[in-house]
Parts: sequence; structure tokens; C-alpha cells
Amino acid sequence: MTEPLHALTDGLNALDAWRSRWPAFAPDATLELPPETMAGVLAQLAERLQDNFPFHHPLYAGQMLKPPHPLAWAAYAMTMTINPNNHALDGGPATAKMELEAIADMARLFGFTNHLGHLTASGTIANLEALWVARQLHPDKGIACSIDAHYTHPRMAAVLGMTAETIPTDAQGRLDLAAVESVLASGRIGTLVVTPGTTGLGAVDPIHELVPIARRHGVRVHVDAAYGGFYRVLTDAPQPMIDVAPWLAIAECDSVVVDPHKHGLQPYGCGCVLFRDPSVGRFYKHDSPYTYFTSNDLHLGEISLECSRAGAAAAAFWATLQAFPLRHDAGFGPILGRTRQAALDWAERLSTSPDFRLVVSPELDIVAFFPVTAGLSASRISAHTEAIFQRLETHPEQPVYLAKLQVRRELLATRYPDLHWDQETVTVLRSCLMKPEQASFVGFLHQAVTAASQATARDL
Ligand SMILES: *Cc1c(COP(=O)(O)O)cnc(C)c1O
Repeated sequence: MTEPLHALTDGLNALDAWRSRWPAFAPDATLELPPETMAGVLAQLAERLQDNFPFHHPLYAGQMLKPPHPLAWAAYAMTMTINPNNHALDGGPATAKMELEAIADMARLFGFTNHLGHLTASGTIANLEALWVARQLHPDKGIACSIDAHYTHPRMAAVLGMTAETIPTDAQGRLDLAAVESVLASGRIGTLVVTPGTTGLGAVDPIHELVPIARRHGVRVHVDAAYGGFYRVLTDAPQPMIDVAPWLAIAECDSVVVDPHKHGLQPYGCGCVLFRDPSVGRFYKHDSPYTYFTSNDLHLGEISLECSRAGAAAAAFWATLQAFPLRHDAGFGPILGRTRQAALDWAERLSTSPDFRLVVSPELDIVAFFPVTAGLSASRISAHTEAIFQRLETHPEQPVYLAKLQVRRELLATRYPDLHWDQETVTVLRSCLMKPEQASFVGFLHQAVTAASQATARDL
């Protein structure tokens, strides 16, 4: 942590030099704090914060969690001492420009030649905004999304007073084309939500095949790439490590959501929404008496449902993109190449192991698998999964942290006809390999789950 702190100190000193251009003043006595009080509270905080899982460590391979890059938090901390508000150009002239530059980079990544967009507090708010625009364009129609789409879509549709229809997936966890065709043919749907990288399995909907179906029915397409979006960088490589076609088709879709606070190395509080047609900005028109009026340029607050937004979040993301470009051969490409490699390696080991089976072949960096048990019943597999999960997490010397997922019968029944369905879902192990360091830990992780599974089999 010392290296980023040196850079941060230099940055803060440079800002102090800027501050000293105005007459000196003493902070008010009401704000004064003895240094030992601050140190004391932070020591208490350090104590309290230990009630966490080691999200930074390669052996934490559970949920979608990891620390931001030090450059991002240093840029965030530095900017936060000014605390610009990207609601308006007058609230943060510098960070508003950085936000526009970062947004343009993201739009370019997805192949949008025109765009309107901004950062948001989260993927949920970004999706809310995309669905709100969907409703403005098709006030009498609803949305449709896969049954494995993020739960935010039906929920936000309800907030907006729209109907949401869920569509089954195929055996890979991707939107089923025939089912989409029949739902869109009903005429009830205004916008189809597609997910390149579902939250559960990382399944990538076949966007290149879905766009023509949607267009045939006059239906818009919204892309929820909150989790998977940054993987688009890998598609430009000479030998891409992911299936390219769905990603290229995003350029023809109407809106995209991506979360820099997931795979973009950012601290929480950084989502992003992009629209391909900038004229949707007309829906945001408002007349607020208390915002700022000194600029003729469009304020970010005029194209956002949120009002105050952290300029520091824009600065952090902008700074990150300066050092880690959105390219396959530099910056994000090599990082995501490592996480993808980790998933491929582990999937290879799992698929050749007598102890486990894969739920699906991973398309990104999420690996889901279940233990092979005597009888192969859903209840037995679920109990075995729970036991492995517990055993790994409570290992006295070297705990390993995975996550669990409920999988529906339809997803597995065809591929594994020998499974016995004494209940409708089965609990499986799930691992998000979001950290490039995990590429070097796959062997360890596999050994740990194998040992835990074998020990569980002896006990049960
Ligand atoms: C995480 C996620 C969301 C929600 O984003 P938040 O930033 O957690 O609000 C939406 N869709 C998908 C596909 C996600 O993975």
C-alpha cells in the first residue's frame, strides 16, 4: 500500500499548491479534531473492518467482489478532497469533462458511432434509466428478459409500471431463440433485455441472433453488460478467448449498461449507461430552479435521473483508463485474458475429474460445478455442495471462499440424464474468478475443493 500512498501524497501536495492561490484561513473551531482522536477512530475502524472476507485474496473466489485498483482509489481520494459534483458543469468542470471522455471510451468499446450516456451509482440505477427510456419510447408495451437476467429487470419494470416477461434459456443458460420469437410475436414487448454475462453463470446471450428477431418485430434491444461488458476488449485479439459474434452485435443495440465497479477496477458507486441514439436526451428535459445556468453546454445532470453524483467516481475511472486502456493487447485485455484463462483452466480440470461436473462450460470467468455423489439426486448433491462450501470456508489452515447457486432442473436435465430430480432445483458451487492473480491459484483451488469433496463423501 505504500507506493500508491506516495503517489497520492504527491497528488495531494499539488492540490494544496492550487488551494494556496486563495487567501489562507483557519478551519472553524467546530471542525477541529485532535490528531489522536482521528488516529483512534481509524484504529477502531481497522478493527471493525476485519469483519470481512478477504476479497483481495486469490483464495476468495466466491461472489463478484474485489478491491479497486490502487490508482482508482488514490484518484478517488485525491478528487474527493475537492468533492466536485458531476450533477452540473459548474459543480465539477474538470470531472464532468473526465466523465464525458470516459463515456466516449466506453461507447467506442461497444462500437457506438453516436452516443449519449453517463456514469451512475450502480448497474441497477443504470438499468432503471435504460428501462425508463424504453418506457418513454413504448409507453404501452413491456419488456422481456431471460429467466436468468438480473432480478433488477422485473423489479425496475414494476417500479416503472411496465410489465416484464421472463423467457426460458437453453441448456447453456442463454436466451432461447424460439421462445424469444414467440414472446416478441405477441406484440406486447417494446424492449428485449439481453445479457452478455449473466450474474449466475456468466452465460452470454446470442445477441447477434437476437437482434434480427427483435428488429423483425419492431422491438428495441437493451444490453445488460453490467458484469460482462469489459470482456468486449478481448474480441479484437487475433485469437480471441471468447466467442466474438454476440459482442460485435452490441453495436447495433439501443442501449448498454456496464459496471466499472465490477470489472473496471473501480470502487463501488460506478455504473454506466449508454444510448446509441443521443436524441433520447429529450426525455430528461426538466426545469429545475436550483441547478446551475452559467453554461451553454448540456449538463450531465440534464441527461441523468440522478442529481448529485461523485465527481471523484468519474476521476477515478478516467484515471484508470489513462493507465489501463480498453485494448486487447494492453491495459484491460491482458487482465481479462488472465481471468478468462483461470476459468478455462479450472473448467478443464473439473470436466476431467471424477469428483465433479460442470454446470455449463464457462463463457467468461464464472465457473459453476457440482459434486458427483452416490445416487446423483438433486437433494443429495445440494447437501454435499453445502458441506463442501462450509468445509472450505472453515478450514483451519487455509480457508477457501466460494459461492453457491440454485440451478433449475431444465438447465441440467438434458446434459446429465442420469441426475435424479427429487426436487426442482439443485445447489451448486459457483466461483467468480475476477482477479488476474487467480490464474496462478487454479491448481490450489481445484485441490482444495477435491479434498473437501472427498472428505465430505467419507462423512455423509
Ligand atoms: C451486478 C449486476 C447488475 C446490478 O448491478 P449493481 O451495480 O449491483 O446495481 C445488473 N445486471 C447484471 C447482469 C449484473 O451482473
